[in-house]
Amino acid sequence: MTDEARPCDLLVTADLILTLDAGSRIVKSGAIAVTDRVIVDIGAAGQLRRRWTPARTIEGRNRIVIPGLVNVHNHTPLMITRGMIEDIGFAPMYTPGIPQGHWLTEDDAYALSRLGMYELLRAGCTTVMDFYRYPSSCARAAAELGVRAVIAGRVHDAEPGTLADGKHVYSRAIGTASLQENAQLIERWNGHDDGRIRCDWAPHAPDTCSDDLLREVKKLADAHGGNVHTHLSQLPAELQAVKERTGLTPPQLMDKLGLLNDRLIAAHCIHMDRADIELCGRSKMTVAHAPIGNAKGGRIAPIMELQEAGARIALCTDTFSGDLIEAMRWAISMQRINRQGNVLDPRTVLDWGTRAGAEALGLGDQVGSLEVGKKADMVLLDNRSPTLAPLIDGYGVLVHSASGHDVDTVIVDGKVVVAQGRLTFADGDEIVAEAQKVADALWSRAGRQPIG
Ligand SMILES: [Zn+2]
Repeated sequence: MTDEARPCDLLVTADLILTLDAGSRIVKSGAIAVTDRVIVDIGAAGQLRRRWTPARTIEGRNRIVIPGLVNVHNHTPLMITRGMIEDIGFAPMYTPGIPQGHWLTEDDAYALSRLGMYELLRAGCTTVMDFYRYPSSCARAAAELGVRAVIAGRVHDAEPGTLADGKHVYSRAIGTASLQENAQLIERWNGHDDGRIRCDWAPHAPDTCSDDLLREVKKLADAHGGNVHTHLSQLPAELQAVKERTGLTPPQLMDKLGLLNDRLIAAHCIHMDRADIELCGRSKMTVAHAPIGNAKGGRIAPIMELQEAGARIALCTDTFSGDLIEAMRWAISMQRINRQGNVLDPRTVLDWGTRAGAEALGLGDQVGSLEVGKKADMVLLDNRSPTLAPLIDGYGVLVHSASGHDVDTVIVDGKVVVAQGRLTFADGDEIVAEAQKVADALWSRAGRQPIG
């Protein structure tokens, strides 16, 4: 049979492959063959070794392979607030006394984006949607480190300096500048590296964008295609500002302006009444569920109600952490508290963090599960880790006990981007040190002396 073997770029073997495909196929002592960034074969390792002659083999003894995780809403530069914001406020843009986006330089944003992308990849997130100020810096970081990314700018016309004081003051100049930043991002980065980097539009929130600005974004996003990303019903202050300005709830406003539809990916969706939930459900929008951030702010989103009403659910970490596995178990716990029952299971939240996220981002035919024909985005976990024992059905221990620290190897687009827990295209130690320097300066400006 050996003489019939065909060449491939990469062969990954593993004790166990959890494909997370529609049939939840599990392969013991399995292998995955990759050519030209794409999975070309999955099956028993012995058979694949006979069928393929790989240019490179990753021997995955003591490894579990899962699809790369998909994080549908994040702001890597805001990692600068992590470890502080949790005890000071909720959404950084509305919180006084912390470093703000408009304080950053482009170089600051780049250093912090690199930190964020490093953490995400290290924890097995192979696809991330990220939007913030200086989005081209974020795209550059994602491109360099090898992550698959959907990037957008932070479009708004509310003056950021006044939001933290509870005021909404709109400025045409700020709106125009943020639109230009997002347009320049798309021009420069959309489609980079055979589509590994894609760009979208992201109006920050219904209260931080005036009606005129939201109409403008709608026009531009329709012409561009792709998704629209935003925050929705995140804070009582948002509801109050939108009500005072328009007489509507945030979902009603987005609906009126034509933005509440199956292309919208909206984070949080916390402060919603029954009518808002029904409206969002009918629209088939996707909720970017951020259970960790919500919980740390003392909030639980009505995720099960939204799903039952017809909304789609995907997972995100939204700044607080890069560990989507942690977000999965928080999602389960928070909904069990909210509904006083066993309403969510590990397989469902794994789906939210992989296939559902990919589908929401329009990448469902490319990533989100391990299947022949899909891009080779996968994560190898070390199953000698005590947190991955005992392994019975695989899903339970992965979601309830494992963490991003169990990730050993990460492959995106057929390229190894993390090996033995270390980045392959950049120096992780240098990234952390550079980000710390930026953080020291910005937190000092905010009146906090770093302990280091
Ligand atoms: Zn966010």
